[in-house]
Amino acid sequence: MIQKTGYIKILLLTILTLPILLIIPGCGQNATLPKYMQPELLYLNEQPYSQIYVEVDVIEGAEVPDEWLDVLEDFLTTHCSKPDGIKVIRDEPIPLDKIKDMSIGPASIFCLDGPDQNSDKQSAYLHIFFFNGKNTFQKKEIHSHIISLCPNTIFFPTGKVFQKNTASCTIQHETGHILGLCKEQSHSDGAHCNNNNCLMNSSPGFLDNLGFFFGIKLKKKLCKDCSNDLEKYKTESSDPNLTFDGPFLIRKEDGYSIASLPYCFMLIPEYYENKFNWHDSLDWIKKQSHENKKRYFLKSILISKSKDGSPPDISSYKDTFVKALDDPEPEVKKYAAQMLKTLEHKE
Ligand SMILES: [Zn+2]
Ligand SMILES: [Zn+2]
Repeated sequence: MIQKTGYIKILLLTILTLPILLIIPGCGQNATLPKYMQPELLYLNEQPYSQIYVEVDVIEGAEVPDEWLDVLEDFLTTHCSKPDGIKVIRDEPIPLDKIKDMSIGPASIFCLDGPDQNSDKQSAYLHIFFFNGKNTFQKKEIHSHIISLCPNTIFFPTGKVFQKNTASCTIQHETGHILGLCKEQSHSDGAHCNNNNCLMNSSPGFLDNLGFFFGIKLKKKLCKDCSNDLEKYKTESSDPNLTFDGPFLIRKEDGYSIASLPYCFMLIPEYYENKFNWHDSLDWIKKQSHENKKRYFLKSILISKSKDGSPPDISSYKDTFVKALDDPEPEVKKYAAQMLKTLEHKE
């Protein structure tokens, strides 16, 4: 009898722990957004951009029901003050061959087109990059995530266990990161909310996991603390030194600017800032991303081409590199130091 009870206990324990073992991988965002890269007000506020343009790229093999995108549109409409609305554009599916052998960073750049080419009005730009987590970028398991260096893109692997139960919440959760939620630590760890039932909590609870076995969809909303935070942010004005130019987030610093895409930045010398053209820059970066397909991170200085097409003299950028040594972003600092070292060797 005792033995029988023991078996029942083990059986019960197995049934109860099974959902935990199969727990939905949480959000891959483990870093707090750095203070110098918080574009949330560009998305939340009416100024300076009256619209959000969402570019949706789906790599062959990823299944993305329209319902997920409708949920995203509703979420942005509810929380962002945009008189010209939220424009969600789903591009033609991208053949897997197009990004063959590429790392995730270069691939996402290679696929993006940027906001409406025919509109001269800049929008707040958001990119969602869907790919099948099982047959694309096989190097390691990838969770849905954003990149803190440039939080304007959601990387979203499909094909995960129970995803049809969770995807709507995951998309809203990642968007919540982009909207700056949980950056203050009164009710969070700086990235995720401490309140169990909140959309910004890092993973579904035990009962939610159990529910997935019975086909119950995860339905989470922002908790009161997170909702209040969003309302509070909306009373603040955005930093004029952080703007969009096409899909690029442009951060203006003293003596230079940084144009960022996820896993990539360009250093723009001050005198060249007025000539920055996002279409040309994107074309150039896309070319780079294809040539450096195995690299995760691309960095470069935006250089003017000489008239005869010969490579420009890097030494004329020395002042820019010296100034960029004090940049708040470690990758930029590192790049500036490397370039100065190269110049030293030349001299
Ligand atoms: Zn998260
Ligand atoms: Zn919360």
